[in-house]
Amino acid sequence: MNTTGEQSTPAELNSIEGFYFDTSIALSADVPESVLGEALARCEAYEKLLSRFAPGSDVWRINHAEGRPVTVAGDTLRILSCAEEMRRASGGAFNAAVGSILELWDFSGNTTVVPAEAALEEARARMEAAELDIEGNEVCIAQGTTLDLGGIAKGYICDRVADYLRESGARCGILNFGGNVATIGSHPQGRPWQVGIQTPSAERNQSVFAVVESSDNSVITSGVYERAFVLDGRVYHHILDPRSCFPSTSTIISATIVLRDGMVADALATALLILGVEQGFSLAQSYGAQALVMDAHGQVSATKGFPLLG
Ligand code: ADP
Ligand code: MG
Repeated sequence: MNTTGEQSTPAELNSIEGFYFDTSIALSADVPESVLGEALARCEAYEKLLSRFAPGSDVWRINHAEGRPVTVAGDTLRILSCAEEMRRASGGAFNAAVGSILELWDFSGNTTVVPAEAALEEARARMEAAELDIEGNEVCIAQGTTLDLGGIAKGYICDRVADYLRESGARCGILNFGGNVATIGSHPQGRPWQVGIQTPSAERNQSVFAVVESSDNSVITSGVYERAFVLDGRVYHHILDPRSCFPSTSTIISATIVLRDGMVADALATALLILGVEQGFSLAQSYGAQALVMDAHGQVSATKGFPLLG
């Protein structure tokens, strides 16, 4: 309600699109286009800092240090500390050192090869033995272990880019990092933002099975329907259960977390897919998050109070 008697006019949004983290990015906010351009430039900088595939990135240097300590940026430290906490909280279902196993798989769809059991076992032993050692701004991981921040970094970056837009004067905006959404304020018309959750079986952006209301929150969805291959009737997708070294076998095919902190939400969404509803919901609730899932039979369930539209 406007108690000052001033006429408030709906904000005008500008939009920009880009492609980072192997994902289409769309940013809209009531800021000048130059600010959105700077926001995209920051995405590029974060990719160079955090991708395990970018030579010279913090994660690349940790993975190639052969066990020696590596000095990293504050952003990297914050993500690694959170990843470590999420590993403990999820009983190992979320594990950023899963890169050791991921690199044996190819979920690009170009090949349909299941890695040899012996190789997976060996990688699992390395992953389990690897303690992430963080001291000051130095990080060290056992030789032969590979970190991969794909399950958490986008949530963190989305938060930082939203913060930058807020600092630049944004009162309303929506950032979509391919299923990782952060909202700034409310929709220009005063209602909450509405975030559609993609129906897993549908073509990208063709159909939604739920609409989430969000103001100044993150809405983060992990699904097993993208980045996958099919072999002998079985779907092999990119979210690995570190305990089996195989794609997670919980019946969940889409997991959404709503929480202000997008980094925690991102890790929780990945963990929820692996842990299943019972454990995954209680983990999410222990962080004050709301959760929504669809299972392989199309059944939808959510935590009490989940902000569904309608
Ligand atoms: P999205 O593909 O939308 O980013 P997620 O946030 O669930 O979906 O992240 C999936 C990515 O997380 C994988 O591509 C991989 O990089 C990483 N990952 C896969 N399994 C795990 C796991 N058990 N723990 C932590 N990260 C994982
Ligand atoms: Mg995630």
